Amino acid sequence: MIEVRGVHKSFGHHEVLKGIDLTVEAGSVTVVLGPSGSGKSTLLRVLNHLEKVDRGHVRVDGSLIGYRQVGDRLYELRERQVLKQRAAIGFVFQTFNLFPHLTALENIVEAPISALGRSRADATARALELLDRVGLADKAAAYPRQLSGGQQQRVAIARALALDPKLVLFDEPTSALDPELVGEVLDVLRDLAGSGTTMIVVTHEIGFAREVADRIVFLDDGRLIEQGTPTELLDSPKHDRTRAFLAKVL
Ligand code: ADP
Ligand code: MG
Repeated sequence: MIEVRGVHKSFGHHEVLKGIDLTVEAGSVTVVLGPSGSGKSTLLRVLNHLEKVDRGHVRVDGSLIGYRQVGDRLYELRERQVLKQRAAIGFVFQTFNLFPHLTALENIVEAPISALGRSRADATARALELLDRVGLADKAAAYPRQLSGGQQQRVAIARALALDPKLVLFDEPTSALDPELVGEVLDVLRDLAGSGTTMIVVTHEIGFAREVADRIVFLDDGRLIEQGTPTELLDSPKHDRTRAFLAKVL
Protein backbone atom coordinates (compact mmCIF):
# COMPACT_ATOMS: atom_id res chain seq x y z
CA MET A 1 0.00 0.00 0.00
CA ILE A 2 2.77 2.42 0.91
CA GLU A 3 6.34 2.39 -0.29
CA VAL A 4 8.75 5.01 1.00
CA ARG A 5 12.19 4.82 -0.60
CA GLY A 6 15.27 6.83 0.25
CA VAL A 7 13.32 9.87 1.39
CA HIS A 8 15.33 12.92 2.41
CA LYS A 9 13.85 16.21 3.59
CA SER A 10 15.60 19.32 4.84
CA PHE A 11 14.36 22.62 6.17
CA GLY A 12 17.14 25.05 5.30
CA HIS A 13 20.36 23.40 6.46
CA HIS A 14 18.56 21.12 8.87
CA GLU A 15 18.12 17.63 7.43
CA VAL A 16 15.02 16.29 9.17
CA LEU A 17 14.57 13.03 7.23
CA LYS A 18 17.88 11.34 6.40
CA GLY A 19 16.96 8.54 4.04
CA ILE A 20 13.75 6.83 5.12
CA ASP A 21 12.68 3.44 3.75
CA LEU A 22 9.35 2.07 4.87
CA THR A 23 6.83 -0.41 3.53
CA VAL A 24 3.27 -0.60 4.81
CA GLU A 25 0.94 -3.45 3.88
CA ALA A 26 -2.69 -2.81 2.98
CA GLY A 27 -4.97 -3.21 5.97
CA SER A 28 -2.17 -2.99 8.49
CA VAL A 29 -1.56 -0.68 11.44
CA THR A 30 1.89 0.86 11.75
CA VAL A 31 2.78 2.79 14.88
CA VAL A 32 5.58 5.34 14.67
CA LEU A 33 7.51 5.97 17.86
CA GLY A 34 10.34 8.39 18.42
CA PRO A 35 11.51 11.33 20.48
CA SER A 36 10.25 14.84 19.92
CA GLY A 37 11.93 16.40 16.89
CA SER A 38 12.91 13.06 15.34
CA GLY A 39 10.86 13.75 12.19
CA LYS A 40 7.62 11.84 12.83
CA SER A 41 5.25 14.63 11.78
CA THR A 42 7.42 15.47 8.79
CA LEU A 43 7.29 11.83 7.68
CA LEU A 44 3.48 11.84 7.82
CA ARG A 45 3.34 15.17 6.00
CA VAL A 46 5.59 13.82 3.26
CA LEU A 47 3.26 10.85 2.77
CA ASN A 48 0.47 13.06 1.51
CA HIS A 49 2.62 15.76 -0.03
CA LEU A 50 2.01 18.42 2.56
CA GLU A 51 5.83 18.53 2.37
CA LYS A 52 7.78 17.90 -0.78
CA VAL A 53 10.66 15.44 -0.56
CA ASP A 54 14.17 16.53 -1.60
CA ARG A 55 15.20 13.05 -2.66
CA GLY A 56 13.56 9.63 -2.86
CA HIS A 57 9.93 8.84 -3.48
CA VAL A 58 6.65 7.82 -1.92
CA ARG A 59 4.13 5.54 -3.54
CA VAL A 60 0.63 5.06 -2.18
CA ASP A 61 -1.42 2.29 -3.72
CA GLY A 62 0.84 2.30 -6.77
CA SER A 63 0.68 6.06 -7.41
CA LEU A 64 3.76 8.19 -6.99
CA ILE A 65 2.85 11.02 -4.61
CA GLY A 66 3.23 14.42 -6.26
CA TYR A 67 4.54 13.11 -9.57
CA ARG A 68 3.48 11.37 -12.73
CA GLN A 69 5.88 8.89 -14.24
CA VAL A 70 6.18 8.56 -18.00
CA GLY A 71 8.84 6.03 -18.96
CA ASP A 72 11.72 6.93 -16.68
CA ARG A 73 10.81 10.60 -16.48
CA LEU A 74 9.00 12.27 -13.62
CA TYR A 75 6.64 15.20 -14.07
CA GLU A 76 5.44 17.21 -11.13
CA LEU A 77 1.66 17.04 -10.69
CA ARG A 78 -0.41 20.19 -10.79
CA GLU A 79 -2.02 21.44 -7.60
CA ARG A 80 -5.43 20.04 -8.56
CA GLN A 81 -4.03 16.54 -9.03
CA VAL A 82 -2.07 16.77 -5.80
CA LEU A 83 -5.30 17.70 -4.01
CA LYS A 84 -6.97 14.66 -5.52
CA GLN A 85 -4.18 12.37 -4.28
CA ARG A 86 -4.36 14.04 -0.89
CA ALA A 87 -8.11 13.48 -0.64
CA ALA A 88 -7.48 9.72 -0.75
CA ILE A 89 -5.37 9.95 2.41
CA GLY A 90 -7.05 10.91 5.67
CA PHE A 91 -5.09 13.02 8.14
CA VAL A 92 -6.00 13.40 11.79
CA PHE A 93 -4.04 16.03 13.71
CA GLN A 94 -3.17 16.40 17.34
CA THR A 95 -5.31 19.53 17.54
CA PHE A 96 -8.53 18.40 15.79
CA ASN A 97 -8.73 21.51 13.54
CA LEU A 98 -12.51 21.47 13.20
CA PHE A 99 -14.17 24.53 11.68
CA PRO A 100 -15.52 26.36 14.76
CA HIS A 101 -18.47 27.94 12.92
CA LEU A 102 -19.76 24.62 11.54
CA THR A 103 -21.65 21.88 13.40
CA ALA A 104 -20.20 18.38 13.74
CA LEU A 105 -22.30 17.24 10.79
CA GLU A 106 -21.35 20.24 8.64
CA ASN A 107 -17.66 19.68 9.42
CA ILE A 108 -17.96 16.15 8.05
CA VAL A 109 -20.00 16.83 4.89
CA GLU A 110 -17.95 19.80 3.72
CA ALA A 111 -15.08 17.93 2.02
CA PRO A 112 -17.07 15.11 0.36
CA ILE A 113 -19.23 17.76 -1.29
CA SER A 114 -16.43 20.13 -2.31
CA ALA A 115 -13.64 17.61 -3.04
CA LEU A 116 -15.57 14.59 -4.30
CA GLY A 117 -18.65 16.30 -5.70
CA ARG A 118 -21.06 14.20 -3.63
CA SER A 119 -24.64 15.38 -3.30
CA ARG A 120 -25.53 16.97 0.03
CA ALA A 121 -28.06 14.19 0.68
CA ASP A 122 -25.50 11.41 0.12
CA ALA A 123 -22.79 13.20 2.09
CA THR A 124 -25.21 13.78 4.98
CA ALA A 125 -26.38 10.16 5.08
CA ARG A 126 -22.77 8.96 5.15
CA ALA A 127 -21.79 11.55 7.78
CA LEU A 128 -24.60 10.41 10.08
CA GLU A 129 -23.40 6.81 9.71
CA LEU A 130 -19.87 7.89 10.59
CA LEU A 131 -21.02 9.93 13.60
CA ASP A 132 -22.82 6.84 14.80
CA ARG A 133 -19.69 4.78 14.28
CA VAL A 134 -17.61 7.10 16.48
CA GLY A 135 -20.35 7.12 19.13
CA LEU A 136 -21.64 10.63 18.46
CA ALA A 137 -24.98 10.04 16.71
CA ASP A 138 -26.61 12.52 19.10
CA LYS A 139 -24.06 15.32 18.47
CA ALA A 140 -24.69 16.04 14.77
CA ALA A 141 -25.99 19.55 15.50
CA ALA A 142 -23.40 20.45 18.14
CA TYR A 143 -20.69 23.04 17.49
CA PRO A 144 -17.07 22.18 18.33
CA ARG A 145 -17.07 24.46 21.41
CA GLN A 146 -19.98 22.43 22.81
CA LEU A 147 -17.97 19.22 22.56
CA SER A 148 -15.19 17.83 24.75
CA GLY A 149 -11.73 17.37 23.26
CA GLY A 150 -12.33 13.65 22.90
CA GLN A 151 -15.63 14.25 21.11
CA GLN A 152 -14.02 16.83 18.82
CA GLN A 153 -11.27 14.40 17.94
CA ARG A 154 -13.86 11.71 17.16
CA VAL A 155 -15.63 14.17 14.83
CA ALA A 156 -12.25 14.86 13.19
CA ILE A 157 -11.80 11.11 12.66
CA ALA A 158 -15.28 10.83 11.14
CA ARG A 159 -14.41 13.76 8.90
CA ALA A 160 -11.25 12.01 7.69
CA LEU A 161 -13.22 8.81 7.00
CA ALA A 162 -15.90 10.67 5.03
CA LEU A 163 -13.55 10.84 2.04
CA ASP A 164 -13.29 7.02 1.99
CA PRO A 165 -9.51 7.22 2.29
CA LYS A 166 -7.24 4.33 1.29
CA LEU A 167 -5.07 5.24 4.20
CA VAL A 168 -5.47 7.28 7.37
CA LEU A 169 -2.56 9.06 9.07
CA PHE A 170 -2.84 10.00 12.73
CA ASP A 171 -0.38 12.48 14.22
CA GLU A 172 -0.46 12.11 18.01
CA PRO A 173 -4.27 11.97 18.02
CA THR A 174 -4.54 11.81 21.81
CA SER A 175 -1.67 14.07 22.90
CA ALA A 176 -3.81 17.18 23.32
CA LEU A 177 -6.49 15.40 25.35
CA ASP A 178 -7.09 15.29 29.07
CA PRO A 179 -6.11 11.82 30.30
CA GLU A 180 -9.70 10.74 30.96
CA LEU A 181 -10.61 11.39 27.29
CA VAL A 182 -7.78 9.40 25.72
CA GLY A 183 -9.56 6.05 26.02
CA GLU A 184 -12.62 7.00 23.95
CA VAL A 185 -10.41 8.09 21.04
CA LEU A 186 -8.21 4.99 21.26
CA ASP A 187 -11.42 2.89 21.21
CA VAL A 188 -12.34 4.46 17.87
CA LEU A 189 -8.83 3.79 16.51
CA ARG A 190 -9.04 0.19 17.71
CA ASP A 191 -12.40 -0.23 15.94
CA LEU A 192 -10.95 1.18 12.71
CA ALA A 193 -7.93 -1.08 12.93
CA GLY A 194 -10.22 -4.07 13.42
CA SER A 195 -12.15 -3.19 10.28
CA GLY A 196 -9.07 -3.33 8.07
CA THR A 197 -8.34 0.39 7.58
CA THR A 198 -4.70 0.97 6.65
CA MET A 199 -3.37 3.25 9.36
CA ILE A 200 -0.15 4.94 10.38
CA VAL A 201 -0.31 6.27 13.91
CA VAL A 202 2.25 8.47 15.60
CA THR A 203 1.62 8.02 19.30
CA HIS A 204 3.31 7.65 22.67
CA GLU A 205 0.53 5.31 23.86
CA ILE A 206 2.66 2.19 24.19
CA GLY A 207 -0.20 0.04 25.49
CA PHE A 208 -2.24 0.86 22.40
CA ALA A 209 0.77 0.19 20.17
CA ARG A 210 1.35 -3.19 21.74
CA GLU A 211 -2.27 -4.22 21.38
CA VAL A 212 -3.16 -2.81 17.96
CA ALA A 213 -0.01 -2.35 15.86
CA ASP A 214 1.04 -4.90 13.28
CA ARG A 215 4.40 -3.15 13.10
CA ILE A 216 6.14 -0.53 15.15
CA VAL A 217 8.86 1.65 13.68
CA PHE A 218 11.25 3.72 15.72
CA LEU A 219 12.45 7.02 14.32
CA ASP A 220 15.43 8.81 15.79
CA ASP A 221 17.09 11.93 14.42
CA GLY A 222 15.60 11.51 10.94
CA ARG A 223 16.45 7.84 10.59
CA LEU A 224 14.25 4.83 10.93
CA ILE A 225 16.62 2.89 13.09
CA GLU A 226 14.53 -0.09 14.07
CA GLN A 227 11.24 -1.78 13.19
CA GLY A 228 9.42 -4.96 14.03
CA THR A 229 6.35 -6.50 15.60
CA PRO A 230 5.28 -5.01 18.93
CA THR A 231 6.89 -7.93 20.75
CA GLU A 232 10.17 -7.55 18.87
CA LEU A 233 10.40 -3.82 19.24
CA LEU A 234 9.00 -3.35 22.74
CA ASP A 235 10.32 -6.47 24.47
CA SER A 236 13.67 -6.96 22.80
CA PRO A 237 14.76 -3.72 21.14
CA LYS A 238 18.12 -4.09 19.41
CA HIS A 239 19.32 -0.51 19.44
CA ASP A 240 20.51 1.43 22.45
CA ARG A 241 18.50 4.43 21.33
CA THR A 242 15.29 2.43 21.15
CA ARG A 243 15.99 1.05 24.62
CA ALA A 244 16.71 4.50 26.00
CA PHE A 245 13.49 5.89 24.48
CA LEU A 246 11.36 3.03 25.78
CA ALA A 247 12.87 3.37 29.24
CA LYS A 248 11.55 6.93 29.30
CA VAL A 249 8.01 6.31 28.02
CA LEU A 250 7.21 2.92 29.57
P1 ADP B 1 8.39 15.20 15.55
O1 ADP B 1 7.03 15.14 14.98
O2 ADP B 1 9.08 13.86 15.62
O3 ADP B 1 8.44 15.89 16.87
P2 ADP B 1 8.90 17.03 13.37
O4 ADP B 1 8.79 16.24 12.12
O5 ADP B 1 7.76 17.89 13.73
O6 ADP B 1 9.31 16.06 14.59
O7 ADP B 1 10.16 17.97 13.29
C1 ADP B 1 11.46 17.50 13.07
C2 ADP B 1 12.39 18.69 13.02
O8 ADP B 1 12.10 19.47 11.88
C3 ADP B 1 12.29 19.60 14.21
O9 ADP B 1 13.58 20.03 14.56
C4 ADP B 1 11.45 20.76 13.70
O10 ADP B 1 11.77 21.93 14.37
C5 ADP B 1 11.86 20.81 12.24
N1 ADP B 1 10.77 21.31 11.36
C6 ADP B 1 9.58 20.71 11.16
N2 ADP B 1 8.83 21.41 10.29
C7 ADP B 1 9.56 22.48 9.93
C8 ADP B 1 9.36 23.59 9.05
N3 ADP B 1 8.22 23.72 8.36
N4 ADP B 1 10.34 24.50 8.94
C9 ADP B 1 11.50 24.38 9.63
N5 ADP B 1 11.76 23.36 10.47
C10 ADP B 1 10.82 22.42 10.63
MG1 MG C 1 5.17 15.71 15.69
